[in-house]
Amino acid sequence: MKIILFGPPGAGKGTQAKKIETKYNIPQLSTGEMFRAAIKNQTSLGVKVKTIMDEGRLVPDDIVVDLVAEALKMPEYAGGYILDGFPRTVPQAEAFDSLLSKNGTSLDAFLMLKVSEAELVNRILSRGEGRSDDNPEKVKVRLDVYNKETAPVLEYYEKKGLVSYIDGFGTVDEIFSRIETALGKS
Ligand code: ADP
Repeated sequence: MKIILFGPPGAGKGTQAKKIETKYNIPQLSTGEMFRAAIKNQTSLGVKVKTIMDEGRLVPDDIVVDLVAEALKMPEYAGGYILDGFPRTVPQAEAFDSLLSKNGTSLDAFLMLKVSEAELVNRILSRGEGRSDDNPEKVKVRLDVYNKETAPVLEYYEKKGLVSYIDGFGTVDEIFSRIETALGKS
């Protein structure tokens, strides 16, 4: 099964992706986590993206697309995967589509985690993960970027009839059971 887990920053994508990973035994691929690991390990990729991420802006599409395309070649993703944080722009979605069709495969589900903006800000500022982009000023930038550049990705998949809306308000388990219901239908 190939799943895109979509939603604004702070919607809980990472938490739910890990639960899907455990229950359905399909690995998660998080571009944000890959970039954070690159920064921590001071790789050339990490050096390139550090300032961009710290500012809450998006890493350029070509860098992200190359990273994902390379990662998905690994045997662990052959049986499916959950994408968390990708695609985040329409050009990324288009590039991902051509990658899928080149491999003769297609997406099974696009899950949109819906959470109100006030709740997002609350969650990000109280999660205390020590991320350099989790402060009020950067959260505002990330939400603006989401509204301008990432929200159109939802329309892109909406046109393909692939979107399942998940109410992202509630406990982690309540939200997960809504995801299970949506996946059962797709
Ligand atoms: P969140 O969803 O809370 O913003 P992520 O871990 O998904 O957290 O992303 C953190 C940062 O990593 C983003 O603000 C951006 O700078 C970078 N990033 C992650 N994924 C992408 C992507 N697909 N395209 C561009 N930038 C990305």
